[in-house]
Amino acid sequence: MRRLPHWFDGSPQPVREGRWLDVHDPCTGEVCAQVARGDADDAARAVAAAAAAFPAWSGLRNSERSAWLEKLASALESRLDDFARAESLDTGKPLRLSREVEIPRAVSNLRFFAHAATQSASQSHHGEAGLNYTLRQPLGVVATISPWNLPLYLFTWKIAPALAAGNTVVAKPSEITPLTATMLAELAAGIGFPPGVLNVLHGRGDEAGEALVAHPQVRAVSFTGSTGVGRRIAALAGPALKKVSLELGGKNPTLVFADGPWREQMDTIVRSAFQNAGQICLCGSRLLVEQSIYDEFRDAFLSAAAALRCGDSEDPATGLGPLVSQAHCDKVLACIARARDEGGRVLLGGERLARPGWFVPATVIEGLGPETATNREEIFGPVATLQAFDDEAGALQLANASDYGLAAMLWTRDLDRAHRLAARLQAGIVWINAWLLRDLRTPFGGTGASGLGREGGEEAMRFFTEPRNVCLSIAP
Ligand code: NAD
Repeated sequence: MRRLPHWFDGSPQPVREGRWLDVHDPCTGEVCAQVARGDADDAARAVAAAAAAFPAWSGLRNSERSAWLEKLASALESRLDDFARAESLDTGKPLRLSREVEIPRAVSNLRFFAHAATQSASQSHHGEAGLNYTLRQPLGVVATISPWNLPLYLFTWKIAPALAAGNTVVAKPSEITPLTATMLAELAAGIGFPPGVLNVLHGRGDEAGEALVAHPQVRAVSFTGSTGVGRRIAALAGPALKKVSLELGGKNPTLVFADGPWREQMDTIVRSAFQNAGQICLCGSRLLVEQSIYDEFRDAFLSAAAALRCGDSEDPATGLGPLVSQAHCDKVLACIARARDEGGRVLLGGERLARPGWFVPATVIEGLGPETATNREEIFGPVATLQAFDDEAGALQLANASDYGLAAMLWTRDLDRAHRLAARLQAGIVWINAWLLRDLRTPFGGTGASGLGREGGEEAMRFFTEPRNVCLSIAP
């Protein structure tokens, strides 16, 4: 049985007997590893290691920190296949997805912020009162807390800018998918990455996670996860006046207009609903379709979604993997049962597969309005609903009938309408005739219940630094 310890100060840490949590393979439901169950003492030791490493790391030249991140990116790239297999074992997701999308994206995250370390600039202001320039300095020890749905992809999306900006990090991956974060810590140690700069603390959110957020030496918390936990973290960090960045849940609308390229792009539209079994915060779970094409669209969508085969991660024919855990599978099935109670018609899927593992096939529901819990609350599974609209105003009203505001997808060839709606949709990201097309320089994040703050490019470099205005009087 593989055991995954904490990694502090460049080394694996001893774990007391009885302080292990089981990790499951979602394709079989079997225990596949154990992970350390950290507590407040472990969090304090991780923070102490990070604090000790901070002066030397923040004192490096930007180009030296950049070189370390680039070295880590290359080491990860050379082990891409091992990491992809580990990611798929932990999450159940198709190996193709880990190998072609997620681990390559983790490499890109490290590489992108390696470049940001040398290319990020600060402002200066002239002409009003002396000479002002903005000194941007790292914060110190920062915490990153990441979820299970895109484990290494989101883990690196946070640690890379934090390290590039000169902070040292205590990173807590999800206890449900701790494998690749542990492997990255091991890989970093193997290439001689300075000890204490990147520390991996494992454990449950309410134990290790809260202790980390509350630790007085942690200056900022970058969190991705559910809205409920985001609120809890804000409540803990607020009184201590810590900086927080919160990337939370979504209930994203996909607006399909009759004039849009939806016939040609049906594969992308289906992917946008069901990739990673719908366990991506950016998935479109509410399909809003213009009335004139509703029946034709529904039939085409159903037949494309029905073709997604559930199966093991190693099988190249697999289109849809399992849900990540027994608890999450139970939650998704309860949401489907609630949709039936609310009067929804389940057109496809809707039942757990009679096989080992936590498989629920692509599920499509119609007949529910915007006021139902099914259309308001995040399900985070392979469940999409269909609603019809008559015109642009109706589409906008349905799209914005949500407390969330992460992403919105728009399928139309009418440019005026596309830009009009892009400005009016309540969302941090609007994709027009596209989904998950990402330029890492752009601001990433949501409004309302989807979060606070932005990640990506300069936004992330600003979050992980403290600006200081330096003003120099110039004699006339
Ligand atoms: P979660 O909130 O349960 O857990 C996320 C992380 O927070 C885990 O590491 C967990 O251990 C930790 N945690 C839990 N309770 C904590 C606490 N009290 N204090 C500190 N840390 C705590 O989320 P999840 O179930 O792992 O992930 C799914 C959720 O993440 C969905 O809601 C999804 O929409 C959201 N998500 C958002 C984005 C985004 O960019 N907006 C991206 C991916 C996932």
